[in-house]
Amino acid sequence: MKRVLITGAAGFLGSHLSDRFIKEGYRVVGMDNLITGSMKNIEHLMPLENFEFYHHDVSRYVHVAGDIDYILHFASPASPIDYLKIPIQTLKVGSLGTHNLLGLARSKNARMLIASTSEVYGDPLVHPQTEDYWGNVNPIGPRGVYDEAKRFQEAITMAYHTFHGLETRIVRIFNTYGPRMRLDDGRVLPAFIGQALQGKDLTVFGDGSQTRSFCYVDDLVEGIYRLLFSNHAQPVNIGNPDEITINQFAEEIIKLTGTSQKVIYVDLPKDDPKQRQPDISKAKEILGWEPKVSRAEGLKITYEYFKKVLS
Ligand code: UDP
Repeated sequence: MKRVLITGAAGFLGSHLSDRFIKEGYRVVGMDNLITGSMKNIEHLMPLENFEFYHHDVSRYVHVAGDIDYILHFASPASPIDYLKIPIQTLKVGSLGTHNLLGLARSKNARMLIASTSEVYGDPLVHPQTEDYWGNVNPIGPRGVYDEAKRFQEAITMAYHTFHGLETRIVRIFNTYGPRMRLDDGRVLPAFIGQALQGKDLTVFGDGSQTRSFCYVDDLVEGIYRLLFSNHAQPVNIGNPDEITINQFAEEIIKLTGTSQKVIYVDLPKDDPKQRQPDISKAKEILGWEPKVSRAEGLKITYEYFKKVLS
């Protein structure tokens, strides 16, 4: 039985990945320091013989006894609100944490996949974003702590690949949503649904003309799964290219929830990217992957989840 270490296992993406690898017959070692993750996300896995959990901060030395075949590094604060609150931890987990895990991967002869992000493109001047675009990032702006940690993470991962011959994979994740997102993580989807459910107006930042492209979590997990088992060490975008403005998105949430609340406009945060849409030609070609879940379907499932959480 192959054994996979998933960092950030109690988080939104880490917990869905843990589910998938358990389902595929792997032994999963979950690791999380629980600063943004929650044991609730993995409580159903805890009784399983094939699931182990370590409460540990991967920015400190990581020790795991026994063999490990794959490492998926998904530990990191990932919403603008979170990384503004904990900027130093965000920098450390992407840099020191990644270094520790690369060392572990070498010592175990494991393949390592890192969770990178569309934030490496910053406020992009190329649209849609292709993997060969180098990005437009402000290193000292509020998002710099996340963006630069992720850019360093890609750099050190590629260095371990070229210098040490380590098997590595890099996924650039675009906006993803689904059950187990935190209602209070400040991201636009939980913010809007939470506001609608709690009888508050929906806060659109800026004039709402900025765009995002939202991918349902099951589609993302499928893309990551395929990438891990591909032989492609270069970065691959995984996301849903169905792009909309935040204004349109607010309208969709108002319709979906049937709320009588309105949209209110508040200040746009500094360095908020104006447009974002993945070019997924590479994922299509190399992995035979494209998203299957429409926003209408995905939003319905996610709305039901948030309703349950709030009741
Ligand atoms: N946004 C918004 N209202 C909110 C939260 C976010 O209008 O209550 C906007 C935000 O300014 C950004 C987009 O929605 O343009 C997506 O924000 P999010 O924090 O979800 O992720 P990002 O893609 O910016 O990392």
